[in-house]
Amino acid sequence: MFIAHIALPLPLYQLFDYQLMTPAEVGMRVKVPFGKRDAIGIIVSIDQHTNFDIKNLKKITAIIDTVPLFTPSIWQLLNWAASYYHYPIGEVLFHAMPTLLRQGRQAAKDEIKHWQLTELGQQFDLALLKRAPKQQLLLSSLKNNTVQENDFGATIYYELHKKKLIQQISYRPDSVKWQINFSVNCSPIQLNKEQSYAINTINEQTDQFGVFLLEGVTGSGKTEVYLNILANVLSTGKQALVLVPEISLTPQTIERFKQRFNAPIDILHSGLTDKERLRVWLQSKNDENAIIVGTRSSLFSPFKNLGMIIIDEEHDSSYKQQEGWRYHARDLAIMRAKIENIPILLGSATPSLETLKNAQNHKYQLLQLTERAGNASLAKQSILDIRGLPLIAGLSQSLVDQVKKHLSNNNQVMLFLNRRGFSPQLLCHDCGWIAECPRCEHPYTYHQKQHKLSCHHCDTPRSVPEQCPKCGSTHLIPIGVGTEQLEKQLEILFPNIKISRIDRDTVSKKGALNNYLYNIQQGGAHILVGTQILAKGHHFPEVTLVGIIDVDGALFSSDFRATERFAQLYTQVSGRAGREAKAGEVILQTYHPDHPLLNILLTKGYRAFANATLQERQQTQLPPFSYQVLIRAADRNNCYAPTFLQRIHEWLKENGAPELWQLGPIPANQPKKADYNRWQLLLQHTNRQLLQKILNQLVIEIGKWSEISKVRWNIDIDPIDN
Ligand code: ADP
Ligand code: ZN
Ligand code: ZN
Repeated sequence: MFIAHIALPLPLYQLFDYQLMTPAEVGMRVKVPFGKRDAIGIIVSIDQHTNFDIKNLKKITAIIDTVPLFTPSIWQLLNWAASYYHYPIGEVLFHAMPTLLRQGRQAAKDEIKHWQLTELGQQFDLALLKRAPKQQLLLSSLKNNTVQENDFGATIYYELHKKKLIQQISYRPDSVKWQINFSVNCSPIQLNKEQSYAINTINEQTDQFGVFLLEGVTGSGKTEVYLNILANVLSTGKQALVLVPEISLTPQTIERFKQRFNAPIDILHSGLTDKERLRVWLQSKNDENAIIVGTRSSLFSPFKNLGMIIIDEEHDSSYKQQEGWRYHARDLAIMRAKIENIPILLGSATPSLETLKNAQNHKYQLLQLTERAGNASLAKQSILDIRGLPLIAGLSQSLVDQVKKHLSNNNQVMLFLNRRGFSPQLLCHDCGWIAECPRCEHPYTYHQKQHKLSCHHCDTPRSVPEQCPKCGSTHLIPIGVGTEQLEKQLEILFPNIKISRIDRDTVSKKGALNNYLYNIQQGGAHILVGTQILAKGHHFPEVTLVGIIDVDGALFSSDFRATERFAQLYTQVSGRAGREAKAGEVILQTYHPDHPLLNILLTKGYRAFANATLQERQQTQLPPFSYQVLIRAADRNNCYAPTFLQRIHEWLKENGAPELWQLGPIPANQPKKADYNRWQLLLQHTNRQLLQKILNQLVIEIGKWSEISKVRWNIDIDPIDN
């Protein structure tokens, strides 16, 4: 008898055994009895062995697929990922499937249904239907092939069907080969030397695995390099995957791809319906689309014939899934390229230190674009010392003067402040009470326009109190500046200038961001106020001044990665200034004009900063010179989570390696969120394999503990925020 070992979408590390009565293959979906209901699972292996009493094993109810659902390379990738991230295989496999497939929908195109005449219908004398004129008309229209969908109601079809004059046939549409009509529209752009070198280097190595890093300053024409490489890959008949950060999927980017290639390009983003997602999934599996451009999870598209992966803005933190299965799409994409034996290109103006280290070690081939494309030159950068200066809504008078100057030349100005809302705190002027979210013990942000307080940690809103609950005073004042307040102040200072505020509050509606971007593109004096949404990849040719209002917080964080993120953000934001023909200027307001990091960034640029930081990390043995794992635990009563982590800590002291470094258990960076008290234990080792081995044993050990039912816990491999 054959036993199928089946993965179910449950947070459990085990597989479930069922009797297999009919032939099936690994990777097919099945329906199995589970508890009182039927569940959908995936066959992970088949053999004749079970640890359970074979007589008690239930039978598989139905086999859903006729062929394995995943391509062999994705199957291999997901199995590898489940073990690398120590995440239950069932959850990993189901995560990688479109929702409709998780629910059991057939992995095939919808059938198209179509009415046609029966033999009887073909010979039928239309005159016999003169008392039923609609039926007569439908029958004659079917004869002449002129029926439009919805021309006739269902009852008319039903009547003709009852008379055996018409029948319904259904079929699945054939696949269309995109390669037959493929062509590349030529581009007016004359590539520069560095672009050509990068393109040629990659094109010479397309038949095997290899990682390329395209390090190009903002506006250096990286996208143009992508398009040229894609042209080459597609012309050999292969498909390509382009990953982009969440926020940069704008019509601008998409248009550039669609204009260049006569080939089906699918865009995968969060706004698609389940049906559309399944369609794209099937098309990539059937080799019916040439390119998928999409965010993180597009990585799991089952291309039949993948020839190249491109990851734009490879340093972007949106590539790391931050809940559930915490995979890093860039790292998995590299693994996928390896399995598929194809090249992968990472592009960025500000590569992550992980990637730079690999480039320095020659694990990745480094290709550089050091100059801005066309006539654009890099922006002039300066620090504005605001110590002792009066500020209005965060703005110093000299910055306001500069804004005026640029606007009067009919240019656009961008002001960056990474904090939305009117103010980050509401304070009682008489007793010092601060309105705080009880679920997170974190100050509420005050949103003036909606007249409410909102917790940016748990997203819970509440109304603004009339009085201080502590002393009864009505003198409640907003403290600190958010984008909403900045916008309001600018409206007063510049009453005749268009102002667009771009942050999560204003762009949450579908299409809103694209609307803003469109308006800005129309040109003319304009002030853009926004958070980091503005920093990502958008092209604002009319912006000549970028003002950075307040970044000091980023310079003094306990997270060792904070400075790297700051340098990336700063470089990306300042990269918005001065594109094409217009020279740009960046002004940074700060209370710390002598900060060494700021100075190295401003005078020598991101790469100098990155090299210096890499050296520091090497000396202190921090990633990427060691590997980290964060074990998180949370509970409501603040008791089980720390003791659970303490038990892990002690077990690791006994059973882990001697050089395993542990920090914790300590409260998490954000110690409370939505009623849960959060704790963490950080592990670090210079040997990745050894760390993996220890974790394997740890996961088995934890599985035996009764505490696990009392805490929410997870393992974060290669965490990016600690
Ligand atoms: P990046 O992705 O590096 O920020 P883009 O590829 O978006 O840069 O290019 C920036 C601008 O420069 C675009 O408008 C693009 O059309 C233009 N461009 C790219 N390459 C060249 C070139 N070789 N000569 C002139 N303009 C170019
Ligand atoms: Zn008070
Ligand atoms: Zn909260």
